[in-house]
Amino acid sequence: MRIARFTTGDDPVYGLVDGAGEKIAEITGDPLYTRIELTGATHLVEDVRLLAPVIPRSKVVGIGKNYADHAAEMGGDVPEEPLMFLVPNTAVVGPGDPVVLPPQSSEVHYEGELAVVIGRLCKDVEPEDALGVVFGYTCANDVTARDLQRSDGQWARAKGFDTFCPLGPWVETDLDVSSLRVVTRRDGEVVQDGTTADMVHGVAALVSHASRAFTLLPGDVILTGTPAGVGPVVAGQRVEVEIEGIGTLSNPFVEP
Ligand code: MG
Repeated sequence: MRIARFTTGDDPVYGLVDGAGEKIAEITGDPLYTRIELTGATHLVEDVRLLAPVIPRSKVVGIGKNYADHAAEMGGDVPEEPLMFLVPNTAVVGPGDPVVLPPQSSEVHYEGELAVVIGRLCKDVEPEDALGVVFGYTCANDVTARDLQRSDGQWARAKGFDTFCPLGPWVETDLDVSSLRVVTRRDGEVVQDGTTADMVHGVAALVSHASRAFTLLPGDVILTGTPAGVGPVVAGQRVEVEIEGIGTLSNPFVEP
């Protein structure tokens, strides 16, 4: 299933998106917590405003340097264990929402990534059980103020600014993510073209690793790292993250 969160002008609701990504069938409640029941109302995707498909209840867990080619372009080795950081949920925005470039940075980069949405409360999950706690997958842009990442020495500010974590366009719940193409475009030009098959630590290992440090809650999100090709983005440009089997997340970048 593809589950979107959207508004037609009133309170946000959820819906099931068809395979072509053209129609949404509205459902009751929040599918993370309640059984999925259709309301009978349907919409064209182009007629609604898609929102972030999930608002992480407690945290976004980021993973750094999880593709060898990206670790190399950053001038470092692949960490032996997954390298984790936290992004506040206030950084999350949805498809089409503007990413606001902060005046504190003069070097903001895009990072196209597969995002994992956790489906149930869990702790100390074994890798072989880890995919069972996953609700689904969406696209993410792990926007990073690269200059502040270097100067701060840790990553909270560089990756945590408001609007720095676009998610969407929807959550795909039935997907084998072991080998999916991840393509990022800046103003239409392909700047990243990787595959999740090149992750150093796969999704199951990442979920397990994160759960050994943090209790994971429904709606928590894990960003799985970016392939090579990160680069700058400036006001007026648009970045698209397309993941095979999910769809395309597109966001404009703007001055405050
Ligand atoms: Mg990243």
